[in-house]
Amino acid sequence: MHALAAQQDMAAFIAAMPKAEYHVHLEGTLEAEMKFALAERNGVKLPYADVAAMKRSYVFHDLPTFLKVYYEGMNVLLTERDFYDLCYAYLAKAHSQNVLYAEMFFDPQQHIDRGVPIAAVIGGITRARADAEAKLGIGSQLILCFMRDLTADNAMAALDAALPYKDKLVGVGLDSDEKDNPPTKFAAHFAKARAAGLKVTAHCDVNQKDTLEHLREALVDIAVDRIDHGGNILQSPELIGIAKTKDMAFTVCPSFSGKVVVDGQPVEVVRGMLDQGLKVSINSDDPAYMGSSYITEAMIEAQVRSRLTKAELVRISHNALDTAWLTPERKAGYLGKLAAFAKAQGVAV
Ligand SMILES: [Zn+2]
Repeated sequence: MHALAAQQDMAAFIAAMPKAEYHVHLEGTLEAEMKFALAERNGVKLPYADVAAMKRSYVFHDLPTFLKVYYEGMNVLLTERDFYDLCYAYLAKAHSQNVLYAEMFFDPQQHIDRGVPIAAVIGGITRARADAEAKLGIGSQLILCFMRDLTADNAMAALDAALPYKDKLVGVGLDSDEKDNPPTKFAAHFAKARAAGLKVTAHCDVNQKDTLEHLREALVDIAVDRIDHGGNILQSPELIGIAKTKDMAFTVCPSFSGKVVVDGQPVEVVRGMLDQGLKVSINSDDPAYMGSSYITEAMIEAQVRSRLTKAELVRISHNALDTAWLTPERKAGYLGKLAAFAKAQGVAV
């Protein structure tokens, strides 16, 4: 097969493959076009002339510069209907890319602090999830993230505000600027969430200050159920051993997880983690800010960069579906669809 034909064949394979996504921030799916539509509906003035000008402002060179643009963008999200529209648009897009099931993050502090009631945020998202499941068949659940760069008290207030809606949530996570904000800053929050029956995950962003200590805290001190990103684990055989003992799943996002240096050599995160036998999935993170790179595009990028085979791609999708926070029966149904796809494609796994 010629190189171009092989590339197209691989892209079609990835697009058609049944998938699951666990590392997507709903606010990060807010496309510039929707920002303008919501701004008009809500009478909010945007500091850009048009969609193209706004997209040109999406220039980031590190986590803080990204977060500044990202949080500014949320100001158009004000009503229950806005959160419904945001969530439904993401689920429709994910469904069009053969995502069977998603666990999505949201940042309540960012909305509560702007005066938006938590009932509107969770209510709109929950209604969109139900409609998307009924109309499109895509399953989903919701993960509340603590913003680690705000105070512990601010995060606790958001958790307390959200706990009356705990049946609409599946877990809690930890995101935003990691520098000097270790997982243990939120130990009490994670414990309270767990006591309420929620699962626990945490971002360990790539190449951050104190990255290995943060990974250790997440794995050992907090004993998370899942880690988001986590690529620097490749620098610690000891932590790799702990993660494998715990069958820990890592939600990797190629757009944000570049290379990490291992023994003086740059290593692609997905390739390195797969070769270490770690349970990796591929996810889109903040697609609206990554040139509309949703899960299919993220997988194509990872396939090229890490030279993934079709069998490895199926393994990655299997890892994702297998780590769903769902009943074994529902998981088995999704995994059966992936197995049927692999068989039809002649891919042995
Ligand atoms: Zn993230």
